Amino acid sequence: MSIRLKITLWFAAALFIVIAMTYAVILSVSREVIQKTVRDTLLETVENNVDEIEYYKDITGIDLNTETDHFIIYKDGYLEVDDDFLDEVNEVYTALYSSDGTLMYGENPLAMELAGMEFSDSVVRTRTVGGELFYIFDRELTGPGLGGLWLRGVVSELQGNLQMHEISVLSLIILPVILLVAIVGGYLIAGRMLRPINNITETANMIGRGGDLKQRIEVKKGNDELHRLAESFNEMIGRLDAAFEAERQFTSDASHELRTPMSVIMAQCEYSLDETRTQEEYQNALGVIKRQGRKMSRLINDMLDFVRLERHSGCYAMEKTNLSELVSSVCQDMALIGEKGIKLSCIQGDNITACVCPELINRLLTNIISNAYRYGNENGSIKVELSEDENCIRLSVADDGIGISEDEQELIFNRFYQSDSSRSGVGTGLGLAMVKEIASLHGGSVEVNSELGKGSVFTFVLPKKPEQQVK
Ligand code: ADP
Repeated sequence: MSIRLKITLWFAAALFIVIAMTYAVILSVSREVIQKTVRDTLLETVENNVDEIEYYKDITGIDLNTETDHFIIYKDGYLEVDDDFLDEVNEVYTALYSSDGTLMYGENPLAMELAGMEFSDSVVRTRTVGGELFYIFDRELTGPGLGGLWLRGVVSELQGNLQMHEISVLSLIILPVILLVAIVGGYLIAGRMLRPINNITETANMIGRGGDLKQRIEVKKGNDELHRLAESFNEMIGRLDAAFEAERQFTSDASHELRTPMSVIMAQCEYSLDETRTQEEYQNALGVIKRQGRKMSRLINDMLDFVRLERHSGCYAMEKTNLSELVSSVCQDMALIGEKGIKLSCIQGDNITACVCPELINRLLTNIISNAYRYGNENGSIKVELSEDENCIRLSVADDGIGISEDEQELIFNRFYQSDSSRSGVGTGLGLAMVKEIASLHGGSVEVNSELGKGSVFTFVLPKKPEQQVK
């Protein structure tokens, strides 16, 4: 079952319950209101009729032939019942009774049934007759000569039934129509709202079938959850695309770098196997094969290190480290290289500390110092300096070697980049790329300042965290 249908069904079920409850409430409230109206009408009718009865001792002078009022002989006079007396209105019946309970005027459909019922002034009472409930309201007349006379009003509870029936029928027509409109509207809106999900599915299927990570989900303007989901999905595809592209590039660069030593090894093997060679020629060929094999081995090790660094960037534990001690220890070890008569000196400050991964900082410094030896001049010098100010810590390595041209300074941090002069050397072109990666892993950067023929300064800048900054 589709989400759209599920949502619609849930919505319909909830709405059905609400509408059923509304129907019940409407019926119950209407019933209450109508019953109250019936009782109020009864009261009002009886009260109005009270003023329509008068007592006359003498009615000479009144022409009974033309008179529209009714005259009833009562005691030693007459009762005049005005022609405005409503003995039946809206099924409310009013009748005039003498004190002994004799019906004198008006109508009472329950006259027989209520014959023995005591009068009770100004109180609405109920009586069930033949399964039907009736409201009864008595009123004692108090005017001159009217003492002992009573008006009794009677109305059936069913009097409001017609209105109730109308309300019920109206509700039964209107409420299902509302339910239907809401369900259809809900179904259409759900379809519209869920459209981005269809787009996501289609795009995911297309990527799955063709592996084309350039595909994107078409999203119209909007800021609801599904639009945000589609945008996140697009960002994710973008990142995957970039990651795959980087992977592809790396594989292609790596195979390109490995191809050269491999071709040299193959050529040397063919040369040696082609025909019988002298002892010296075999030794030379094996020497070349050994050098190229070493180069491949270095390249593979560096590549593995680099890939590990990129893949597990989040797995290196950062800890509070005494950088002064770390730098001093690395310099002591590296000074032992003593290649080309180069002297290495170190200024490491006192107890400069930072939250870093010591293993990676060691690698960063080793790579830069190794380069300084590699590209340094005979009997030159390397100066390592660790310093800090209120905002950052700086670790610089200065050499007085061959230097780097301005054009190349941009490129040396790219993977596998090597200047032409250093291609034949022992480098792999991954050292500085690794340095850059380590620097950014720590939230820092690495800068180069160099002049061809004069030397280079590589500086790792590590910004201090706000709590470390000295104000
Ligand atoms: P490599 O293994 O070739 O040294 P790196 O990534 O460490 O690779 O360096 C890239 C290139 O940058 C080197 O081939 C070299 O041309 C240049 N380079 C790096 N460090 C120095 C330096 N201290 N002095 C001069 N050139 C340098």
